[in-house]
Amino acid sequence: MTLPRRKDNLVTQSPQVQSPIHEICVAVDLETTGLDSERDEIIEIGAVKFQGDEVLDTFQTLVNPGRPLPPFIRALTGITQKDLDGAPYFSSVAPDLMAFLGSHPIVGQNISFDLAFLRQKLVAQSNPAYDTRDLASALMPYFPEYSLGRLVEELGLGHARPHRAWDDADVTRQVYLALVEHALEVPAHQISEIARWAMRSRWSMAQLFKRIENAALSASPPAKMDQALDLEALRKRLPRSRPLSANVDLVPIDISLLERLFAPDGPLSRRFPGYEARQEQQRMAVEVAKAINGAEHLVVEAGTGVGKSVAYLLPAMLFAVANNKRVVVSTATINLQDQLIRKDIPALIEALSTEPEFSNAEIKVAQLKGRANYLCLRRWLNLRDSETLSQEEARLLSKTMLWMQDTTTGDRAEIGTAGRELQAWPHFSADGGDCVAPEGVCFFRHAKDEAESAHILVVNHSLLLTDLARGGGAIPPYDYLIIDEAHHLEEEATKRFGFDIIHRETESLVDGLVSAGGMVEKTRFAVRLSSLADHRRRDFEELLTRLAEDTLHWRQMWHQFRKVIYSVMLQYRDASDDSSQIQVTSSTRAQPAWADVEIAWENADLSLKEALDGLTEALEAIEDSSDIQIPNQDAVALEASALLQQGTDLRDHTLEFVIHPRKEMIYWLTAGVIEGTAEMHAAPLSVAPALQDGLFAQTKSVVMTSATLSADGTFDYFRRRVGIELSSELLVGSPFNYKKAVLLATPPDIPEPTTGGYQSAVADAVIELALAAEGRTMVLFTSYNALRATHAAVLGPLSAAGIRLLGQGIEAPPRQLLRSFQDDPKAVLLGTNTFWEGVDLRGGQLKVLILARLPFNPPSDPVFAARSELFEDPFKEFAVPQAILRFRQGFGRLIRSQEDRGVVVVLDRRLSSRAYGKTFIEAIPPCTTTDAPITALRGQVHEWLQRP
Ligand code: SF4
Repeated sequence: MTLPRRKDNLVTQSPQVQSPIHEICVAVDLETTGLDSERDEIIEIGAVKFQGDEVLDTFQTLVNPGRPLPPFIRALTGITQKDLDGAPYFSSVAPDLMAFLGSHPIVGQNISFDLAFLRQKLVAQSNPAYDTRDLASALMPYFPEYSLGRLVEELGLGHARPHRAWDDADVTRQVYLALVEHALEVPAHQISEIARWAMRSRWSMAQLFKRIENAALSASPPAKMDQALDLEALRKRLPRSRPLSANVDLVPIDISLLERLFAPDGPLSRRFPGYEARQEQQRMAVEVAKAINGAEHLVVEAGTGVGKSVAYLLPAMLFAVANNKRVVVSTATINLQDQLIRKDIPALIEALSTEPEFSNAEIKVAQLKGRANYLCLRRWLNLRDSETLSQEEARLLSKTMLWMQDTTTGDRAEIGTAGRELQAWPHFSADGGDCVAPEGVCFFRHAKDEAESAHILVVNHSLLLTDLARGGGAIPPYDYLIIDEAHHLEEEATKRFGFDIIHRETESLVDGLVSAGGMVEKTRFAVRLSSLADHRRRDFEELLTRLAEDTLHWRQMWHQFRKVIYSVMLQYRDASDDSSQIQVTSSTRAQPAWADVEIAWENADLSLKEALDGLTEALEAIEDSSDIQIPNQDAVALEASALLQQGTDLRDHTLEFVIHPRKEMIYWLTAGVIEGTAEMHAAPLSVAPALQDGLFAQTKSVVMTSATLSADGTFDYFRRRVGIELSSELLVGSPFNYKKAVLLATPPDIPEPTTGGYQSAVADAVIELALAAEGRTMVLFTSYNALRATHAAVLGPLSAAGIRLLGQGIEAPPRQLLRSFQDDPKAVLLGTNTFWEGVDLRGGQLKVLILARLPFNPPSDPVFAARSELFEDPFKEFAVPQAILRFRQGFGRLIRSQEDRGVVVVLDRRLSSRAYGKTFIEAIPPCTTTDAPITALRGQVHEWLQRP
């Protein structure tokens, strides 16, 4: 529905209803010295008064903050100290600004940030506020992010000077208008629902949505008020599918057919332009086929550029289709999962369809994730009718309602959710609670149905191992499994076979029970509206009051317990060690102070037990009341059951941690997010037995592959870590010519990492090398402190040379940083853990890769320390192989395609000064090397990058 436009570009409307497009608003943006409205100051104000497409007036000024401008802000905005020294103080511009704003609604991106600064100075105290991020988040479910830059991009707008106040204000105006126009095209009955939820949650956008609703209804009153969500249409989009029924006699993969598919004139060459038959790829595919045919396990390392996903997918598809037998493929990262589902598998199906053997074959593919990823329709319907909603819930209801008009998966990954919306997602998700999988519409059940009917089922390591830890049930039974990115297997199993008792989780239990809109309040509300007899209603009320009191008492006792644990942690921590974590061993427990922990736990446990007993009683009372119509009975029962499960898990885990530790587990404490409190963690000493018994012994064939599985030329280390004894193995190198593509520099004039002067030498080297490459440089650190120190030291010199600096955890979240780095040819990216792998920068996007130091695990890491004790020579047998694998992953970031060329610089002298150094060099493909000092390296780097 598009509203007719007048000549002046304003929307035609009946006289009595004013469209939001008609409303005079002021778009505002501020630049400031920092993020804290109480400590930081405004340095620039930009504002645009507008009505529809017409700009009525503008306001723009720099503001003298009366303090030095931080270098980071100078680099971000381009505003200099000199610009500000001559600018007026805020007090002089405030009267004009107040007159400009009047009482008009203020429009802004993350407007609460700007309003906090203005209201601190008594400006814009009562203007209505419309946030473009909120608006987009509610109305544009498929936008991946809601940052201003991303909104501008998604809406096809231009943005000349980001991070300058007037430009940001003007582009925010354009974003706002585009979003309101879009809202006016949303069917009136859906906008009415959004307006209703906004009102119920007292969301500041309620007034705007009401206006949009009025305009929509007045422009096109619906004949009847349809349901905003058509459940029947949704049911039709989620048809039931038939589970796969495997052939009794399995037919092996025809190896000659497989080889023919890879031939230079085969279907792959016809499907993929520029296809080159690669020996390494074909060899791997044949070995995978043999492993599946022979029901054997296989470990394969395939260097970058082998095309390993095609090499395992093709034999898997041939086998699965010929036998109607499921093959499960597990990946660690979402990137690879997406690549398989959206790109590789459809392309292979297309290629196979040209072969006579497959022209009639139906190859079914599905993706399955953990329950928490799927929207639970039962919870959604309950929230839709709830009288008590938070703003995040209202926003998520709006977004998911629009999304459900056409999604066929209900998978959260299809929509953008971030920040506090993510915290509200558990109220919408299919995770937890008593789920009886009724005959109604259910996204999770649909995903499981699809999984059961699929030849190739793509899952992730997290689901694979969680399912294993819980004894199965989530993934349909499988005999054939391919684990890609298998170097993550141990780490992921460590997480899934252990547990964490952290503040956020315990608070969410308390909030779920007693916060505004929590289970107690919802139940109380429902009971008041029910047809229960007076005496039963009174009993119910008393039960809920007791439950709320017991929960709050438990929270108090729990807090005490965490304080006691923290004080014990301080006592045990070596005074010379500033580590914020300590391992809890049998000798820790033998110390007298541990008795205090046990006493504090007994008190906390007693109160937790009382609260859980009360919750059980409440749940039984709710369920027993099915005859007497409690409104939303289903919702409160589901919520109560999920909370009961959460509380029981918490109790069991804490009991194990404090009183009944298991000898096969590692336990440790870390400092909590709340000062003076501690958090508890547990992980298995070895994941090998569980993987061996639960996975390798139960499955006919497991193929494990990655570009980095071998250390010192063998798979011994990997095999021991994951517990795979019997298997074939294959190591195929990369087809790339690294001698031609990589200059490997190991400058000898860098001090050893533990000596004085190292940090400043790293900073100097980063500056030299980034200038030589004119950007396109990524620096990988092993610690966040080193990253921050380098960031502070190189920011000025690089900014002065026109090179943009992007620091993980400083400028933006990792995904956004990577996009900025890709878009800006003159940028330097400083990253830690997440950037050591999975980053795929091709086509010359990365020219210089700097590894600040060899990636040894910190000895203070409790899991590493405990596992080290299992070795005779822990350094040689454990620390070095682990660091080599990480080093190879970091090194692998540079060359991603045949055309890539660049320089790797390792700023760690131990590579040449220690005996183990050469094992690191031998673990990577042979490159052209130089040991020129940093001072001479700049010229060499420049010259190497200029070579054709
Ligand atoms: S079956 Fe479970 S996950 Fe599915 S809609 Fe019902 S309660 Fe939600």
